Amino acid sequence: MTEVRVRFPPSPTGYLHIGSARTALLNWLWAKKNNGKLVLRIEDTDEERSTQTSIDGIIDGLQWLGLDWDEGPYFQTEFADAHRQAAEQLLAAGHAYKCFCTKEELERKREAAMAAKQDEVGYDGTCRDLTPEQVAEKEAQGIPAAIRFKVPQREGKVAYEDKVLGTIERAYTDIEDFVIVRSNGKPLYLLCNVVDDIRDRITHILRGQDHTSNTTRQVLLYEALGVPLPVFAHMPLTLDLQKRKISKRSHGEVVSVQFYREKGVLPWALCNFLALLGWNPGTDQEIFSSEELIAAFTLERIGKVNSVFNYQKDDPKFFTDPKLISINEQYLRTMPIEELAELVKQDFIKQGLWDNAYEGEKRAWFLETLNLIRDRFHTVCDFATLGRAYFADQYKVEDAPLKKNILKYRELLNWLPMLAGRFDRLSDDDFTKEIAEDSTRALAEELNIKPGVLINGMRTVLTGQLAGPGMFDILIALGKERTIERMRSIEHLYSSLEDSAVS
Ligand code: GLU
Repeated sequence: MTEVRVRFPPSPTGYLHIGSARTALLNWLWAKKNNGKLVLRIEDTDEERSTQTSIDGIIDGLQWLGLDWDEGPYFQTEFADAHRQAAEQLLAAGHAYKCFCTKEELERKREAAMAAKQDEVGYDGTCRDLTPEQVAEKEAQGIPAAIRFKVPQREGKVAYEDKVLGTIERAYTDIEDFVIVRSNGKPLYLLCNVVDDIRDRITHILRGQDHTSNTTRQVLLYEALGVPLPVFAHMPLTLDLQKRKISKRSHGEVVSVQFYREKGVLPWALCNFLALLGWNPGTDQEIFSSEELIAAFTLERIGKVNSVFNYQKDDPKFFTDPKLISINEQYLRTMPIEELAELVKQDFIKQGLWDNAYEGEKRAWFLETLNLIRDRFHTVCDFATLGRAYFADQYKVEDAPLKKNILKYRELLNWLPMLAGRFDRLSDDDFTKEIAEDSTRALAEELNIKPGVLINGMRTVLTGQLAGPGMFDILIALGKERTIERMRSIEHLYSSLEDSAVS
């Protein structure tokens, strides 16, 4: 059996778009599923727009996502000779011809055709049937020539079987003689891409539906070069709720892979989400390990219709599609704690929160605390923000709990230090969840108040948050000393509130 070979050929003209990442992912899945190979090819023929920063960003993004490739990166510009040779081959076989029309002439003709409202505004075939003598004469005059593909002038349609969309066809008469090499000698995408796919022995081309019209023209190139067609599978475009293509210009950073990395999204959670954006497992299953996804993935289940990226710009509740956040949360809650610890470590280093003891004498505490607080978190970054109070003494007390749990009960100013005093009198061994809870409930009874008043007040003072793990688990995670100190310093919360009330 022929080895399955797929490719990911990005043009390095910007950041790694999540749509491109999805293309890379589906190709990767298909390679893995078939024990095949994934080729990374950087299509850098557009010299003006290609940049090294973009190449680095794409490679870095793929590595972060865990989408490893088997060959490459190859750089398309390094194969320019092969591209020109293929054009020569097409010329020699009569499948292409030299076109001496200048840019100005072509522009003039196009405008005239448009003004006359002609259906056909493509190339009019001026140079299609030049005699060898006419060609030689123009060359002798030093007129530069582009090379155009000679689309067969016949009735009927060029067609291919798309694994997702079925038969795709286009009338020959609808396809203009397209340029394959510019008059400055530069071969163009349609040709380079085919020549490279042939050289790289690509068996399956999985790419976006925006390429279907390229594909019909490329099928003509394959036929003219005498090479059998690979399998094509075009995947749906991803649109926003207003049915616009998602782009950095309209949507901002949310379309770039780098954004998710900075936001603390787990790489495989992003892959899992992207796989479901345009591929349907046929069941309700939403969470897939990479092995499960490889096993479940088929080309036939790639969607035909556009997929929707459910993102509302400026939504304060969700920074991206809520489904991605929910998938991320599920991974965050269930992934091996050591793996999570490594990711949190990287973020803590960036945030200046890292303590080497978390890999030494405080290792067990660090892992237990991550495990305790991860349930309510959405991203890796939440550990340093929402969870900051566990790892640092300077942390923000949020407005909502401050108002709800502190301002309403001014007496906490006495009650919490009183409770702290009782904790202080406990020996270290007695400072357990159960005893701390008993002491708290006993004090509430003495004061004739609901225990919740003390508990919510403590939560606010100790963590700055409205919600979180069980209160007495928090005490143990923070330890006796920090608990007491924070409860005794409750006064600063009132003064900060009074300051903000005045301002
Ligand atoms: N460089 C092209 C792109 O990024 C490749 C398209 C293809 O898959 O053939 O759109």
